[in-house]
Amino acid sequence: MYHHIKKLMYTVNVGTPDPRFGNMLLEQFGGANGELAAAMQYSVQGLNCEDPDRKDLLMDIGTEELSHLEVVGTLARMHLKPIKKGNGNAAAGDPLIAIAGGGGVNLFNSMGDAWTADYLKITGELDVDLRSNIAAEARAKIVYERLIDYCDDPGSKDALQFLMTREITHMKAFTAALESLGKDRFSIGAIPPTPGLVNQYFNDSTGVGDEGESDARGPWNEGGEWQIVEATEFQQGVENMGNGGAKSSSRPASKEVIRTKKSA
Ligand code: MN
Ligand code: MN
Repeated sequence: MYHHIKKLMYTVNVGTPDPRFGNMLLEQFGGANGELAAAMQYSVQGLNCEDPDRKDLLMDIGTEELSHLEVVGTLARMHLKPIKKGNGNAAAGDPLIAIAGGGGVNLFNSMGDAWTADYLKITGELDVDLRSNIAAEARAKIVYERLIDYCDDPGSKDALQFLMTREITHMKAFTAALESLGKDRFSIGAIPPTPGLVNQYFNDSTGVGDEGESDARGPWNEGGEWQIVEATEFQQGVENMGNGGAKSSSRPASKEVIRTKKSA
């Protein structure tokens, strides 16, 4: 059951409206990492959740995101007001809002693309969903940070700082909920991965780039159980082509060499 209270979760004040900034704010209204996407993702995950404690978490945060939608929508409307008053220049900047929307907000992103349920990540597997939510909160946080960076209005910045902070709060809660499930980090679903294969790191990007990029080693491919797998034949074929040896085939390697690196 939903209940609406005629008060914003955070008071919004705008000094000087800026229609172009109002348009940017739509990214968090009807965009891929916006508040509606977050509200729908967590609420629908909550509907599907059979773990009562974490269902409560999903419904709590899903509902808070709807309150964020109201705050960011109100903020966007305040910035888009000049379009409503018949400002020709502002209207030319965004005909979708000025002409089709009459200056009001609608479920579009900052580029005018319609909101879509394709933005939602709902798998029906609680730990997998929680990982999606942690990533979604990180994306929302960085979008708010960029909006703050492009904003000159102190009142708007204040509201955006509130919304940005709440995303970190949610990220902390989803992370704690995932950890409290007590599952191994790489144990996803029920079928175990193939032993051996699971620890092979394919060195599929080789050579030296124009900016000096070369094969990097790090904890993502060395130490522990990692095995580096080199596609040496393919590498030689490409090098020959680079030396003008057009005869060389670019056929992928038929034989791979497995090199086990000793733990660092
Ligand atoms: Mn939010
Ligand atoms: Mn959030």
